Amino acid sequence: MLNDAEKENLRKQLEGELVTPGDAAYDEARRIFNVMIDRHPAAIVRCAAASDVVAAVQFAREHDLRVSIKGAGHNVSGNAICDNGVMIDNSRPPSKHP
Ligand SMILES: Cc1cc2nc3c(=O)[nH]c(=O)nc-3n(C[C@H](O)[C@H](O)[C@H](O)COP(=O)(O)OP(=O)(O)OC[C@H]3O[C@@H](n4cnc5c(N)ncnc54)[C@H](O)[C@@H]3O)c2cc1C
Repeated sequence: MLNDAEKENLRKQLEGELVTPGDAAYDEARRIFNVMIDRHPAAIVRCAAASDVVAAVQFAREHDLRVSIKGAGHNVSGNAICDNGVMIDNSRPPSKHP
């Protein structure tokens, strides 16, 4: 679990949204096509810009967290989502381009 300071540190770097356990959007954000996959990331970064991907990767590296990448969430084995790591969610269209 990330503490409030860690979450705030990541959140302020993002153009998109950070969703973490306890947030109202958390269960919806971690749902993928295969609803039998029931994993709980420590952080879900819903990217709105390429810089969000960079920030998420750096954050995961600094905190020694696993990373998974959600493209559309259709991978049946659930590779888009990992337990206790950072899910980088690229399923939303970017709000701006680099
Ligand atoms: C019923 C069904 C029908 C389908 N039909 C088609 C079709 O007709 N045509 C088609 O093109 N596709 C189809 N697909 C989708 C296809 O099978 C793959 O699931 C899809 O291409 C995966 O892309 P995604 O963006 O959904 O990835 P996601 O499900 O979001 O998965 C994330 C991807 O990122 C990778 N990844 C995760 N973490 C990391 C990491 N740390 N480093 C590097 N890589 C990582 C995973 O291996 C995975 O490939 C279908 C899927 C289903 C379930």
